[in-house]
Amino acid sequence: MYQPRHLRALRRIGLLAAMLAASAALSAALSAAEPPTPPTRADAERAIAAAADARPPEGTPLRPLTIVLLAGPKDHGENEHDYPRWQARWALLLGGKAASDERAANLFGPDRPHPAVGAGAPGVRVIRANPWPSAEEWEAADLVVAFCYLPWNPSRLEEVGRFLARGGGLVLIHSATWTRPRASPEVAEIVGVGGFQFYRHGSLLLEIAMPEHPVCRGLPAQIRWLDEPYWPPTPPGPAERIEVLAASREALEPGRNRNVAPQPQFWSCPHGKGRVFGCVPGHYTWTFDDPFFRLLLLRGMAWAAGENPYRFDPLALRCAAIAEE
Ligand SMILES: [Zn+2]
Repeated sequence: MYQPRHLRALRRIGLLAAMLAASAALSAALSAAEPPTPPTRADAERAIAAAADARPPEGTPLRPLTIVLLAGPKDHGENEHDYPRWQARWALLLGGKAASDERAANLFGPDRPHPAVGAGAPGVRVIRANPWPSAEEWEAADLVVAFCYLPWNPSRLEEVGRFLARGGGLVLIHSATWTRPRASPEVAEIVGVGGFQFYRHGSLLLEIAMPEHPVCRGLPAQIRWLDEPYWPPTPPGPAERIEVLAASREALEPGRNRNVAPQPQFWSCPHGKGRVFGCVPGHYTWTFDDPFFRLLLLRGMAWAAGENPYRFDPLALRCAAIAEE
C-alpha cells in the first residue's frame, strides 16, 4: 500500500522511539536488580555454631591485629562496587567506634542497627588506605583487605611480595581480583590469580568445593546469591599452591560453548610465610550483608592473618540481612 513519504518517515520515527523505550526499560530492569532473600537466622546461626568449639573462648588474650582496609573511588552505579561505604562500614564492624563514625555496618539499604556493632572485634586496630597503603602502613599491617581495582606496578608487586614473605595476610575482594588493564602472570604468581576473561551479573550458585577447609566449616553445600562471578582465572595461576574453596559453574565460552565447568570464586594461596585469600563476589552492596558471605570473608581474613579462622565469627550477624522466619 502506498504511503506518503512523510507518513513512512513518521512510522520509522515511531518504531525507533518504541525501540528506544524498550531498550530503556530493559536497561532499567537490569540496573534495578533487587537483593535476594537472605538466609534465615536459624541457618546462619547453625553455620556459626558449627565452629563454636574451635573459636578462642571469650576473654582469651588475643594477638593485637592491625588491619588495613584498602578502597578506591566508586566506579559503578547505585548499590554496586561501593568501596567507600564498605571501607567506612567495615571499619566499624572490625574496629568499632574508635575506627568509624558510621552507625551501622550493613551496606545495602537504611541503617540496620545492632547493639554490639560499636564494640568492633577485640584487639583489632583499623587503618583506612586509598588508593594504596603507604610504606608505613604496609609495615604496620598484619592484614590488608582490598576492595577496589588495584593499581599494580612492578614496585607495588615487590611491596606485596615482601609483605607476604614476612607473614602478612592479603584479602582481595571482587574488583581487586580483576587485574587491570589486563590479566597478568606477575600478579598471578604473587596472589594466585592474575585476572579473568569473563563476567556476568545475575544469580550465582556457589558450591563449597573444600568443606574440610576451616574457612568452610558449617556452611551449606550450596549458597545462592545475586552477584557477579568472574572466570576463568587467566592466565592460569600457580596450581600447586592454589586451593579452591568454593566455585560456581560457568560457561566455558559464553555465547558459543554451552559446556559449563566449576570456576573458582573463593581461593587461598600461600606466599612465603604469608597467605592470600581471594573472593570474587562482592559486586552488589547486599552481598556484604549476607551472613554466609560474611562468614566466608571474615574467616578468610582471619585465616589469611594466620589467626584462628573463627576469631571474627561473632561479627557475622551484626547489622546483617536475615530473613525472619
Ligand atoms: Zn562488579
